[in-house]
Amino acid sequence: MPGGIGLEIVVALAALALLVAAALVGRRMRRRPAPVRAPKPAARESLGARVRSIFRGAPSEESWGELEDALIRADVGPGPAAELVTRVREAYEPGDDPAALLKREVAAVFESDPPLVVPPGFAVLMVVGVNGTGKTTTIGKLAKRLAGGGRSVALAASDTFRAAAAEQLEEWGTRAGVEVISQQRGADPGAVAFDAVQAARARGRDVLIVDTAGRIHTKQPLMEELSKVKRVLEKASEKPVDEVLLVVDATTGQNGIAQARTFLDAVEVTGIALTKLDGSARGGVVLAIRDELGLPVKLVGTGEGIDDLQPFDGESFAADLVG
Ligand code: GDP
Repeated sequence: MPGGIGLEIVVALAALALLVAAALVGRRMRRRPAPVRAPKPAARESLGARVRSIFRGAPSEESWGELEDALIRADVGPGPAAELVTRVREAYEPGDDPAALLKREVAAVFESDPPLVVPPGFAVLMVVGVNGTGKTTTIGKLAKRLAGGGRSVALAASDTFRAAAAEQLEEWGTRAGVEVISQQRGADPGAVAFDAVQAARARGRDVLIVDTAGRIHTKQPLMEELSKVKRVLEKASEKPVDEVLLVVDATTGQNGIAQARTFLDAVEVTGIALTKLDGSARGGVVLAIRDELGLPVKLVGTGEGIDDLQPFDGESFAADLVG
């Protein structure tokens, strides 16, 4: 039948067209090989997700060990890691979410840590730490924060040893919109501190933040200088210094912690300003440093900008860490 033959021709032509198209596509695919993609990095599992996967079944001796490993891998030091495992383990009841318990126990570590104290009237804050940890930057950020809260702030340049220290403090003072009281390089740091208290008071300032030297690799006796600056500040202001903040770089590791510890012998440090938390891969280092220095973390620096400073808050830290 002519109709039947016509249909066969149409089918044959369609099949031929398909073959030609397939061949063309095949050639194009051969000519342009699929781009080779780098394997996707495995998304970093949050500590909370890791904890939930460890405790999928009923907790065993092994799972508590794995929890400790997970904490250590998140930069929580071995001491605090073991302590947290003990607390979570003691609190655990069948059916509990171990990640939620962990979050609660992390927050509890900081529960009784005092916050930064900047009393009304005339407050004096002294800032100490090794050069390069972020002392000047932290002072600038803190000045801006306090001035933003309505305080009248002045800065004292008591690091008279380092060539550019006063200039650098001036720059931060300008950025923060606060006055910097300084003398020429090489002046006695105690004399600068004394004059700064008097000048700040005379000009009606109600917060004085004192920058200090942080050289530890010279023979000049730094620790005596710092304790003298503190004594002078207390004599001039007729009251104890309100805070002595030790600036610690979160990325420095054991060596940085050992260096920071030398300051504890010289002055009575009241809290830690932990800088460069943005550069440390895992936030657990806050627990490690707090434990190693035995001091509350009062401020955290999270960048190089003037607004990158926050008062430390244990609850939100715990939530962020556990995720
Ligand atoms: P100082 O010698 O202790 O006074 O240290 P500086 O204040 O000069 O800071 C040293 C370096 O650390 C500078 O490059 C700062 O920008 C940087 N820095 C300070 N705080 C932070 C922070 O919280 N995060 C980051 N990423 N960098 C910071």
